[in-house]
Amino acid sequence: MKKILFANWKMNPMTENEAVKLARASDVKDAVLIPPFPFLKAVKNVLKNASLGAQDVFYEEEGAYTGEVSPQMLKKLEVKYVVVGHSERRRLGESDEMIAKKMKAGTDVGLKVILCVGEPLSVYKKGKKVTEEFIKKQFRFIKDKKNLIIAYEPIWAVGTGKNADPEDAARVARFIKSIVSVPVLYGGSTNSKNAEDFLKKKEIAGLLIGGASIDAKEFQKMIKIAKRF
Ligand code: PEP
Repeated sequence: MKKILFANWKMNPMTENEAVKLARASDVKDAVLIPPFPFLKAVKNVLKNASLGAQDVFYEEEGAYTGEVSPQMLKKLEVKYVVVGHSERRRLGESDEMIAKKMKAGTDVGLKVILCVGEPLSVYKKGKKVTEEFIKKQFRFIKDKKNLIIAYEPIWAVGTGKNADPEDAARVARFIKSIVSVPVLYGGSTNSKNAEDFLKKKEIAGLLIGGASIDAKEFQKMIKIAKRF
């Protein structure tokens, strides 16, 4: 199976013009571009090869939910993938229960849901088995694995410049796949220097990339690497 690169732009770039420029530079077949909500339409309009993703979704269809975006709204914008449970959102107070509702709402309308799971540094430091037990707890609400992708993102590796050991990431990916048989991505401080070490692992279906995905040159290098697998 082809390896896929998911570009999570987070709250970047600042303007629509910059977003369109970045989208044009990143527009290849096995990439999924995940811009902030206000740029989804402009990015979609320039894409010829890459797919479109969103950084979050709410679990209700419509109504009095200030600030939220429904799965149907994303579908109408031709969004194909949605990230749920990113550690940067869990840190703002999202619970496993909310994330489970978002997963269901997303898959119900046919969106492919990327569920982020991963352990904090304190758990990682206690050893390998503890990491796996921690991740298993985040799985207790998964009911339907249709259209589900899991991103293993150790919290201590996201945006820190400290990536996981690729062998450890592959081991966790195997563990995840032994519980739910779905594609597993790795995310956490990947770049053009370490991408190959993760992508060559057969258990790792692709990368969820933050910082490096808003640097067009860096992302293009990673795309070149991914094409080898
Ligand atoms: C992410 O945002 O999911 C991520 C992995 O970020 P970074 O690549 O910057 O660590």
